[in-house]
Amino acid sequence: MADVRVAPEVQDLTRIERIGAHSHIRGLGLDDTLEAREVSQGMVGQTEARRAAGVILRMIKEGKIAGRAVMLAGQPGTGKTAIAMGMAKSLGEETPFAMMAASEIFSLEMSKTEALTQAFRKGIGVRIREETEVIEGEVVEVEIDRPAAGNVAKTGKLTMKTTEMETIYDLGVKMIECIIKEKVQAGDVIAIDKVSGKVSRLGRSYARSKDYDAMGGTTKFVQCPDGELQRRKEVVHMVTLHEIDVINSRSQGFLALFAGDTGEIRTEVREQIDGRIAEWREEGKAEIVPGVLFIDEVHMLDIECFSFLNRALEQDMAPILVVATNRGITQIRGTQYSAPHGVPIDLLDRLLIVSTQPYSPKDLRTILDIRREEEDVEMSDDATELLTRIAAETSLRYAIHLITASSLIAAKRKAAEVDIEDVSRAYTLFIDIKRSVQYMLDYQDQYMY
Ligand code: ATP
Repeated sequence: MADVRVAPEVQDLTRIERIGAHSHIRGLGLDDTLEAREVSQGMVGQTEARRAAGVILRMIKEGKIAGRAVMLAGQPGTGKTAIAMGMAKSLGEETPFAMMAASEIFSLEMSKTEALTQAFRKGIGVRIREETEVIEGEVVEVEIDRPAAGNVAKTGKLTMKTTEMETIYDLGVKMIECIIKEKVQAGDVIAIDKVSGKVSRLGRSYARSKDYDAMGGTTKFVQCPDGELQRRKEVVHMVTLHEIDVINSRSQGFLALFAGDTGEIRTEVREQIDGRIAEWREEGKAEIVPGVLFIDEVHMLDIECFSFLNRALEQDMAPILVVATNRGITQIRGTQYSAPHGVPIDLLDRLLIVSTQPYSPKDLRTILDIRREEEDVEMSDDATELLTRIAAETSLRYAIHLITASSLIAAKRKAAEVDIEDVSRAYTLFIDIKRSVQYMLDYQDQYMY
C-alpha cells in the first residue's frame, strides 16, 4: 500500500476558515449546571436554545448521540450557525467545524453524494502522533564539502561530543542547509532531529537542561547505550479526513486545499486512507476526533441526500450532524410530499429539534457591541443605537456587515470613531434584502427577462 501522506501545514487553513462572521464565538457560554449565562464566551441571549445545545453536548460526551442528529429551527439571523459553532468549540479548541449550505451540493462539478461525503469528512478530525528522536551534544567540528559556486553542498561531516563520546555524522542536504542557516560552529550545543534532519542551535550558553523544549511538542529524555543523550519528541498533527483525502489524491498535494479545487475523490483512495488510519489507531498512533458538520437550509436537500444522511449517521466514523432550517411544513425536494421542515419522517425521527427565537433589542445591541470590539471599531452611542434599530428592522447579519462598511467610511474622513452619519451613509450605499426586493419590484419593467 502506498504511504498515506499527512501535511501538518494544513492545520492553519482550517484556522483561517474559522475566522470571520463567528470569530467571537468561543463556546456556548454555559455554567457547570448547563444554565446559559446571559453573555458569555461571545454568546448572547438565546438561553433556551443554548441550554438545549448544552444537554446535547453532554449526550455527545457520554457517547449517547450515535445515529442521531440535531436540528436548529428558527428565523434567519437568530444564531443557528453561532450555536453550532459554539457546540464545536465546547468540544475542544481543535474540534473540526465544517459548514455548508444545502444548496451548495447542486454543483455541476461533483455529484451530490460526493459533495456530502466531502462535507462529512471535513467534519472528522484525525489526531496523529509521531515520535521522533532528537540527539544533542556539543559540536567539535563541522566540515562541509563546498562544491563549485552556485551548487548546493551535498556532503559533509559533523563531529559531536555527546554525553561521553565523540560521534561523527554524515550530513544530508537538509542538515547542511540547517547548519548553514543556524550558523553552527565548533563549541555550539545543537539538537538534531534524526527523522526530519532538522538541526537547532541551542547556543553556547545553553547548559544541557532536561526541561529544554525549543523544538516544540512534548519531549522525554532517554539515555541510550552508546552514551548519546537522546530526547524522544512527540509531535501531534491535527488534520481532517478530507484534508488527508485531498493531499493523497492530487499531485500538488496540500496546495490543492488552498486552491479549493478538490474535485471528486476516488473511492479507492478513501478506502486506502481509512485502512491506514485504522492501522494507526490500533498502533495508538492516531485518534479520531469527531467534529461538527453544520448544514444550513437543510430543506434545500433532496430525497437522495436525505437517504445518504440516514446511512451516514449510522457509520462508526461520523461527525455530529447539526442541520438548520427556517421553514415550517414544506415540500420534500424530489418528491411531491410535504413534511415538517421539508425533511422526510425517517430522518426527522432521528433529530433532536431545538428552536431559536428572535432577539430582543437589548440582545441585538450586545451582539453588535461584541462584533464591534471583535472588529476593533469605535462607535458613538447614537451610531450604535441606529445600528441596533437597523438590525431589528432588517437583519442582524446585515447590521453586522454595516459595522465594517461604516468604519471604512469613517476612516475615509479620518475620524477615529464611527458616527451616526457614517452608519446612515453605509445604510444607503448597501441595501438590505427588503429594500433590494422592493427596488426590483419598482423597476422590474426596466429589466430584461
Ligand atoms: P441563517 O438562517 O440566515 O443562516 P443563522 O440563524 O445561522 O442565520 P447566524 O449566522 O448564526 O444566524 O447569526 C448572524 C450573526 O450574528 C453571526 O455573526 C453570529 O455569529 C451572530 N450571532 C447570532 N446569534 C448570536 C448570539 N446568540 N450571540 C452572539 N452572536 C450571535
